[in-house]
Amino acid sequence: MLLSSVAVWSLSVDAISLVSVEQEIAIGKQADAQVREETPQLRDVETINYIRTIGRRLVRHASGAKYPYTFSVADDRTINAFALPGGPVWVHRGVLDAATTEAQLAGVMAHEVAHITRRHAAGQLTKATMTSWGLGLLGAVLGNDGGAAAARIAAGYLASGIFLKFGRDDEREADRVGLQMMTRAGWEARGMVELFEILRREQARDPGRVEAFFSTHPSPRDRIARLQQEVAKSRRGRRDSAEFRRMKARIAPSRRAAKPSPRRP
Ligand SMILES: [Zn+2]
Repeated sequence: MLLSSVAVWSLSVDAISLVSVEQEIAIGKQADAQVREETPQLRDVETINYIRTIGRRLVRHASGAKYPYTFSVADDRTINAFALPGGPVWVHRGVLDAATTEAQLAGVMAHEVAHITRRHAAGQLTKATMTSWGLGLLGAVLGNDGGAAAARIAAGYLASGIFLKFGRDDEREADRVGLQMMTRAGWEARGMVELFEILRREQARDPGRVEAFFSTHPSPRDRIARLQQEVAKSRRGRRDSAEFRRMKARIAPSRRAAKPSPRRP
């Protein structure tokens, strides 16, 4: 590894980011289009609107740049969620199945929004300029050949898999910032910790359902321990809602098996 790359790895995103907010948004849009092409999506309009409502409520309390946030649901039974650069957030159906309160769902989404507000992807992209797929990236990012560069970078970003795996410090920050965001938006902070507890239980019960999550995130036990204090001192908030209950009924496995929702064009 080059000496200069060591220096970049050790600097925080705030100190050095070679990717502007505009570039980040352009790259994220391209990446989102690619994910959309490759990912089966939940087609239930009411459920998707509900997820978007939660997302909008969260981002009203997000700090940082005004990113064009979008919220999509992948029809995937595994319990996972991910954020793309500059706005797109994806939640797996498995999270909706596993969550038992709205605050738990809001906690997962707040964590992903926090990755975006804290520009963790820009940090990843900056680091990636020093790795093999990114050697040509720096020029492309800094150059000005419009959407083509953004598309190329987005493809490399997705192919590398780094969009699923942030560093430990980034994950901690997303937990902390996400927790603040969800409480400011009115949800009970405990929801975030409760979902980590569900993930731990699922690991023992159905490891395949949480495998991807565990390979890309720090252990829930550590995260619970770190958040416990902040949760204890946070004020009580909204845990559940009639909309959440309705969503749970709509996506219930028995209902899905009996009557699959029609695919819309
Ligand atoms: Zn994360």
